[in-house]
Amino acid sequence: MLKIALTCDDAPWSASLGGNAFREGVMDGIRQQLLRCGVGRCVAFVNSEVAMGQEPQLERWLEAGFELGNHTHDHRTASESRPEHFLDSVERCDRMLQSLGAFDDGRTRWFRFPKLDRGPDAQTRRLLKRGCEDLGYRIAHASTDFFDHHFEARYVSALEVGDEVLATHIARRYRRVATESLSATRIAMRAVHGVEFISVPYFHFGAVSLRTTGAIFDQLTKTDVAWCDLEEAMGHPVFTAFDANFDVGGVVPRPAHMSLPVRVGRRVGRLSHQLGWFRQARLGPRFPYL
Ligand SMILES: [Zn+2]
Repeated sequence: MLKIALTCDDAPWSASLGGNAFREGVMDGIRQQLLRCGVGRCVAFVNSEVAMGQEPQLERWLEAGFELGNHTHDHRTASESRPEHFLDSVERCDRMLQSLGAFDDGRTRWFRFPKLDRGPDAQTRRLLKRGCEDLGYRIAHASTDFFDHHFEARYVSALEVGDEVLATHIARRYRRVATESLSATRIAMRAVHGVEFISVPYFHFGAVSLRTTGAIFDQLTKTDVAWCDLEEAMGHPVFTAFDANFDVGGVVPRPAHMSLPVRVGRRVGRLSHQLGWFRQARLGPRFPYL
């Protein structure tokens, strides 16, 4: 059986993924689909700057029995902002979540770093982690990227020009990538750690998610899946070990010894990503993993 603790980032909608015209009601729509599919638990990580004026959507999320977590006020990453600005952004989001009663009844205060970026160096990372913990937060890790952020801009562009055939094609490709990503990380975790673990996927509140969430989770619930809360997942030794040494570079640690071709390949891959040579927006849906 695969246990899943589901999380969704950039509530109530992802301002960084683009596409202004298709944002209204994204959170409500995804909530309804999760409920219909019987997904009992999900933590939505909120950007309070975007959420201002959208509080009723967040309240309906809580009323449905789901949780809210902190994803900063403005979604600037830990490497992009100064530590004091970053922690101020965490506090601003915290004020909104508290006013909504997100942490009432002893609910865990979850924090997720924007883009999972914990800071540019070990000292900053320690400082930010301590700052979040001082506000009562626990860091919410993720194990599985659904990669919707690679499809969102293309999907929205297709909708904007009214190309329904292309939009359907992109949504179908995304759906396949999301489910394959879930199985791939499950296999990788088994291979690396030798244990079955609780999968913690993340996706974003965006148009392509709104289109596909129902189908993805309908498909998953037909397999042997159990939904659990983030608390149970984060208590797993794989995640606690990762948190104890978060400089390892990911939940699946880097192998200690990599051959030269592998090292060169990784370096080129990182560089090409930084320079934007192979962005999904340029290449289109034929290269779903980039
Ligand atoms: Zn985010």
